[in-house]
Amino acid sequence: MIIVMKNIAEKFRAVFFFGLILAAMAYGCVELMKIQIVDGDKYVEMAHSTTLGTQVINSPRGEIVDIDGNAIVSNKVGFNVIVEKAFFPSDNKEMNRIILETAELLKESNTDWIDTLPISKAKPYEFLDSRDSDIKKLRENIGVQIYATAGECIDAMVAKYDISDDYTDEEKRIVAGIRYEMFIRNFSVANRYTFAQDIPMDAVVRLKEASYDMDGIDVIEEAIRVYEQGDVIPHLIGTVGPIDAEEYEKYKSEGYALNDVIGKSGIEKAMEQYLRGKKGTRTIGFLNGTVVSDEITEEAVPGNTVQLTINIDYQRKVQKILENHIEWLQNQNSSLAKGTEANAGAIVVLDVKTGAVLAAATSPTYNLNDYITNYSAVLNGENSPLTNRATSGLYRPGSTFKTVTATGALNEGVISPSTTVTCTGVYTYWEDYQPKCTGYHGTINVVTALEKSCNIFFYETGRRMGIDMIAEYASRYGLGSTTGLETGGAAGWIATPDSFAERKLEWQAGNVVQAAIGQSETYVTPIQMAVIAETIANKGVRYQPHLVDSIHTYNMEQLVKKTQPVIAERIEDKTGYTFDTVIKGMIQAANFTPYSYPTEKNYYTDYLLTKLDGQAAIKTGTPQMTSSEDTGSSFIGFYPVDDPQIAFSGFIEHGEYSKLMIKQLIDAYYNENYTVSDTTPQMYKTDLSTILSDTTVTPAVTTVSVPPVTTASTTETNLETSILE
Ligand SMILES: [Zn+2]
Repeated sequence: MIIVMKNIAEKFRAVFFFGLILAAMAYGCVELMKIQIVDGDKYVEMAHSTTLGTQVINSPRGEIVDIDGNAIVSNKVGFNVIVEKAFFPSDNKEMNRIILETAELLKESNTDWIDTLPISKAKPYEFLDSRDSDIKKLRENIGVQIYATAGECIDAMVAKYDISDDYTDEEKRIVAGIRYEMFIRNFSVANRYTFAQDIPMDAVVRLKEASYDMDGIDVIEEAIRVYEQGDVIPHLIGTVGPIDAEEYEKYKSEGYALNDVIGKSGIEKAMEQYLRGKKGTRTIGFLNGTVVSDEITEEAVPGNTVQLTINIDYQRKVQKILENHIEWLQNQNSSLAKGTEANAGAIVVLDVKTGAVLAAATSPTYNLNDYITNYSAVLNGENSPLTNRATSGLYRPGSTFKTVTATGALNEGVISPSTTVTCTGVYTYWEDYQPKCTGYHGTINVVTALEKSCNIFFYETGRRMGIDMIAEYASRYGLGSTTGLETGGAAGWIATPDSFAERKLEWQAGNVVQAAIGQSETYVTPIQMAVIAETIANKGVRYQPHLVDSIHTYNMEQLVKKTQPVIAERIEDKTGYTFDTVIKGMIQAANFTPYSYPTEKNYYTDYLLTKLDGQAAIKTGTPQMTSSEDTGSSFIGFYPVDDPQIAFSGFIEHGEYSKLMIKQLIDAYYNENYTVSDTTPQMYKTDLSTILSDTTVTPAVTTVSVPPVTTASTTETNLETSILE
């Protein structure tokens, strides 16, 4: 694969630089014109000395590849239509004619040109939605009053740009849009204007043929971003775009020009310094207005290739596992099914030993190619596909947080592995606030409490710890702050009296016990929860997650930089048994099956964690979404226990049974032939009502975790939550 890429890269470079030379020659003529015409008098005096002019040579942007070197984002050579001010007429009438003819030639090839005017393309003119700041600027720029309508703005532009009354309304709108675009892009001799990008070959031919009559219009070759795998972590890959005024001010000292392209989000932004490459310099010498020397005094260096930690195939499989699960929930027609409202979720898989992100699925998602070509459809897609739930989606952790509470309580000596609490189904410490458990777990220790997700055990443990200790351990596991991932993410909150005060909420004694079971006002991202699983697997060593494996030269011949794992925190195991005890509880949670028999039913074997070759450790949760009735489903875990390789977390909004995805994501990781669509677990082929009506399966009602109760009123233990949680 690397060899293939290299060839493409070389081919690309050859074509690209050839294109640049042509562009440079055109520019040389511009300089010449400038010297002869604009600065004529000045140069007469210097007639006998050589003048040197320099010109910037752009470099292609680096590529983004997966861990195996397969391209996710690459470049191609495309044709752009540009306008050179030095050759472009200064007379309005002639200017407008050339603009209109160019647009019409492009139209014949069904090609768009750049027009970001916030006004509809046809009468009756209307301002475009969500463009308020652009509309305000437009009114300022063309000098109309602040309440001017879209039609009045067009009229003002027609007058301002001296657009002939002989033009049709459509033609007037075309010319006005382009003239305005030229204005906001600061079109000048030093700053050529990009009229259209990536035009098809037939448009190139049409424009070349007509060029004798269109001074200033030129077609040049430039590098264009290609999203080869636009569906692979689009949120994290991000996009590029023209540098804006603010970015220009910030980066101009680093050599950016007004017409440069810059990373706008994701890896494209985070790795900008590597991806952008280094511009070259061409120096042209003139004597008496004649070119006497011409050399590239500094070669342009293409941007570096950024190699990510993810594998395209595994990423796609994890995405599919997530989508399958949501789809299955939505299609349940059993009245007992709670997940038909499921509509979104996320899964994150990390390398336990380094913190490398192995997969980061977010649903709903989108394709970067659609983002570029049909942005409004992506923007307005159902359930906000642009939200990167994996790293920025904030959820209550639910019972997965009990691992944090258990770590702190064991490590600080608040409990020992043999400490027991008796669960009678109700927490009776306070008279006026008695939250409930989901069943009657009897007298149990921390391992059993983790296995069965007993709320009473953790209410009592949390109360004895106090909120400061709970918050300290949450924070040491990385909650409440961003993970350090290159592309950023949400920090979330930990429920404490301080964070309540900040958010103008009233802190009550009962909040401490709700915080201990992951409810209250603690909010986490899926990647933060995967980091918790990773830290438990490492017995207290928390690696900062990272998405960039390494940086290479453009053709991947040379390694520039390799990401070294960063330890963000070490939670010392003060007792010698803290993490082993938590892990034991998580093993029992993985092996726990709520059915008296049989465990071999074909629709369960596909997801039973006891069917794995190795031992998994997990914890599930049922976090509240908007209310105690509206819950989601979460899990964290790692695999295999004896030598942990992968740590993971998952969330399903308004759905349940997220645990069903765990075995699949492990199987997909270890078996590259595992194809998610073909091997959809039997469970997913079976309607829930069939399973629930199967009398050979007896749910064990007393060993379940349900949505926590935040008031004294009860939520009855119900069949559907007892099935799998
Ligand atoms: Zn209990």
